[in-house]
Amino acid sequence: MRSLQSDIEQRGACIFELVDKHPERFFSKAGFYQRLMALSMHDERFKTQLFRFVAVLPSLRRSSEIIQHLEEYFSDGNDGFHPLVSLGVRVARLVPWMSAAVLRWNVSETARQFIAGRNPHDVIATLRKRRAQKIGFTVDVLGEAVVSEAEADEYAARYADLLDKLARETKDWTDPLGKSAELFPVLNLSVKISALYSQMSPAAPADAIAHLCSKLRPLLRRARELGAFINFDMESYALKNTTLELFKTTLTEAEFKDWPHAGIAIQAYLRDSEHDLRDLIEWGRARGTRFAVRLVKGAYWDYETTKSGQNGSNPPVFLQKPESDANFEELTRVLFENEAIVTAAFGSHNIRSIAHAQAVADELRVDRSRFEFQLLYGMAGPIKRALVEMGYRVREYCPIGELLPGMAYLVRRLLENTSNEGFLRAKFAGNVPAKELLRDPKELIKAPVARIAGSNQKNGASLRAAAGDIFRNAPLVSFIYKDSQDKMESALREVRKRLGEKHPLYIGGEKIWTDHLTPSVNPAEPTEIVGYGTEAGVDEAERAVKAARAAFEKWRWTPFEERAQLLERAADIMERRRYELSAVEVFEVGKPWSEADADIREAIDFCRFYAQQMRRLGRPKLTQQVPGEESYHHYWPRGVAFVIAPWNFPIAILCGMASAGIVTGNAVIMKPSEQSIICGAMLMQVFEEAGVPPGVLNFLSGHGSVVGAHLVDHKDVDLVAFTGSREVGLKIWESAGITRPGQRELKRVICEMGGKNAMIVDTDADLDETIMYSIYSAFGFQGQKCSALSRLILLEENYGRVMERLIPAAASLRIGNPEQPGIMVGPVIDEAAYRRILEYIEIGRKEATLAFQAKEVPPRGYFIPPTIFTDVKPHMRIAREEIFGPVLSVLKVRDLDEALEVANGTDYALTAGFFSRSPDNIERVKARLEAGNVYINRSCTGAIVGRHPFGGFKMSGSGTKAGGEDYLLHFLVPRVVTENTSRHGFAPEQSPEYGDEFLWPKPRR
Ligand SMILES: Cc1cc2nc3c(=O)[nH]c(=O)nc-3n(C[C@H](O)[C@H](O)[C@H](O)COP(=O)(O)OP(=O)(O)OC[C@H]3O[C@@H](n4cnc5c(N)ncnc54)[C@H](O)[C@@H]3O)c2cc1C
Repeated sequence: MRSLQSDIEQRGACIFELVDKHPERFFSKAGFYQRLMALSMHDERFKTQLFRFVAVLPSLRRSSEIIQHLEEYFSDGNDGFHPLVSLGVRVARLVPWMSAAVLRWNVSETARQFIAGRNPHDVIATLRKRRAQKIGFTVDVLGEAVVSEAEADEYAARYADLLDKLARETKDWTDPLGKSAELFPVLNLSVKISALYSQMSPAAPADAIAHLCSKLRPLLRRARELGAFINFDMESYALKNTTLELFKTTLTEAEFKDWPHAGIAIQAYLRDSEHDLRDLIEWGRARGTRFAVRLVKGAYWDYETTKSGQNGSNPPVFLQKPESDANFEELTRVLFENEAIVTAAFGSHNIRSIAHAQAVADELRVDRSRFEFQLLYGMAGPIKRALVEMGYRVREYCPIGELLPGMAYLVRRLLENTSNEGFLRAKFAGNVPAKELLRDPKELIKAPVARIAGSNQKNGASLRAAAGDIFRNAPLVSFIYKDSQDKMESALREVRKRLGEKHPLYIGGEKIWTDHLTPSVNPAEPTEIVGYGTEAGVDEAERAVKAARAAFEKWRWTPFEERAQLLERAADIMERRRYELSAVEVFEVGKPWSEADADIREAIDFCRFYAQQMRRLGRPKLTQQVPGEESYHHYWPRGVAFVIAPWNFPIAILCGMASAGIVTGNAVIMKPSEQSIICGAMLMQVFEEAGVPPGVLNFLSGHGSVVGAHLVDHKDVDLVAFTGSREVGLKIWESAGITRPGQRELKRVICEMGGKNAMIVDTDADLDETIMYSIYSAFGFQGQKCSALSRLILLEENYGRVMERLIPAAASLRIGNPEQPGIMVGPVIDEAAYRRILEYIEIGRKEATLAFQAKEVPPRGYFIPPTIFTDVKPHMRIAREEIFGPVLSVLKVRDLDEALEVANGTDYALTAGFFSRSPDNIERVKARLEAGNVYINRSCTGAIVGRHPFGGFKMSGSGTKAGGEDYLLHFLVPRVVTENTSRHGFAPEQSPEYGDEFLWPKPRR
């Protein structure tokens, strides 16, 4: 009996032979495209620039813009394309319209290589041609990720229209094989769920499924009436579980339970794909009706690895290409073994994968008419032909649509075709021998690679690398997983049981109660009391200063390593209590799940990052190598630090400031905001459990005007770390400048205040991203982040284009009680904020034009409808004053110069953003935008510790950077100790770069 491998080799050789009989260049179109691809494969930088240029081109309207971009993208390259560009640009300057048109035509032709037609009418000609070649089709409408429900409805209508039109055109078409035709309807439509619902949140699959079911039902019903087939495509990992669940839910409904003509894609590059496939098969058996699976490797590998690299989480995909190939083969076998219930389609251009499927089908006696090979339009033509010649069923995946919405698809195809790892490139461009290409992928798998390069795994303290680069952030909780959703639900239930608990002060290691308790209410349900905080008065404040002062005298001499370890223990405890702490935030400050989790993650990061930074700063460092003398520069703590935190990041900011104070050897008194006392009390519990010595951290909840003011003015407080409003910040700044009798130190103030953050949108910006990120930045957590977007600055030229998508996107937001998953807009923090924001909305109505206001918000709770004003001018109050709520002002400007002037023309300089695809404009804005944190082509919120040290200047703050390498220095005083080390002219040759800590008595080792 022949071994499977030799069978595969024989079949593969046969396919190769047939492929070589009809030679076709790697890329079927010659000329421009051919040349670009060839260059891309030899020059990574050029490839990046090229793909970026291709992506922006369809959105450029004027010839001069196209030429400008061409020059910006390619003029400084050292590649083969450079002389072409220079020549092109010179010609273009003479006849811009012509050169731009030629370029646009070339790129459109490139895209047309992969896009089967603009509309149903267009595509039918292609389908007829394929029919003559005995190749079937599945059609897909280009465009993914809609930003509003209006767009989602449009897509649903386009799918329905496509189905009807193609049904008319193909009603007389018959199955190309004429056998097992009942399994393979001629008319086959592929749908992407991201095009059908704009508010998809992985944390809320039930919501997504409810919305999507109602969109899909009519489509499935119509498909069934027309005898068509519907396939659910698989997209990014974040949507995978929802797609699977949706597939099972809809097809289990009575109406579709006995309908066999639906299928779903399974991506073999996913580690959990085997589990998903087996689960589907089990579901199929229970349902009792056939269904289909299109097995693919997966088209989002780069995206998934980049995303998880950014989050520091394990990628969901295999990291070695042969692992995906081998898994594809495993799953092929699973599919054939279960042929009785599942019809298999293999979406691959890889001859080894294809030959393997053929061989296993024969081994398991599955007739070749009962499965099919699917290949993409515009790719691997000779392979399709070869498979048809061998008598297999072949279907082509044909995307339909315009170039602009098709860009994401096109770029994926370009990436795939130029990928070093890809089969097509190896075969058709790399001339790798057939034998090599047909090797068993299992043999090619190397010993496991723990993580991908670039995933932030370096956690060893290095003294030379940038601080952020030696630090690994805690990953965010992924609410994609049912397990995480369940844990959060259960934490919410548990915390709900404890609502109303009372929390003491914590002074000098003792729990202290007073006669006054302050209730903290749930802003989504103001009758619900989350808990009570004990209210401190001046007496308790005095007691706290004394306790801190006494503790400081010991703590300051505690080795920094011990202090760092305390923070790390606190981080571990927060990691353990992560869901519970998030749940407390949901109740107390109205944070949506993922925002609450991000806050706890930030607190954990602060602890670990500052611990690591203290190890960097803690050891005295030699200033210069000179013979006979040693000068060591090192730091002492300042004394007693008073930390005043806001409610909007109720654990992270409090923890960040307090942990910085503690690890640097100061004793800390922390005062949480009056609106987030319970979160503050939770943080105190964490440090208590971590073993903070008595007096080193004191917890003082109370009124800012009483205990806050008292301590800011106190002679024994050496440092005030404040984050909050400009009004209070400036008072603290002023008051701290006064030296009181008996005061030892000049008081240091770390002051982080508000923002009036602007985002500029360039004429060539990617509008999908612009809208998505602007909406998130302005309305995420109800606009209550100091980094939130409050001024959107649009250039005249694209004003209309942005607004026509922005308003429907705002209108689609999910507003509600954030206890429910997937809510984007919850309540504002309290009644005072509610009234103040409404007042600003009234001011806005008078000053500008109310362009949008959400119609419905929950009746109870402090819910403000997301609101957008247009015709806003820079001098207006709504363009100058911080509102701290879901209110966005849109300003129209002539050009980028004016945009910069407007953006920079406020008192604040906290965050700012720019959306553009012009390399020159990006450089210019990077250099000129006045903000502590400038974000290009992304949201202007969501700073990550170590990666985006956060803080502003002007009236936004004193220029400190929380989560940055120099933050701890504000809590320290520098000191230099110099010793003459020569004795009678004899001196040591070299002094060590780092000395021991200057501690006395020396701690015992
Ligand atoms: C008809 C059809 C329908 C499709 N539908 C979908 C769909 O619904 N969803 C979807 O995601 N994709 C879909 N695809 C795209 C498909 O996933 C890619 O075309 C495919 O991954 C290319 O695989 P291949 O076997 O042709 O090529 P090969 O060159 O053998 O494989 C390339 C693939 O290997 C994987 N890979 C690359 N590098 C690595 C690495 N370092 N470690 C691990 N794996 C790696 C990636 O998945 C990459 O795409 C479809 C493809 C076809 C032909």
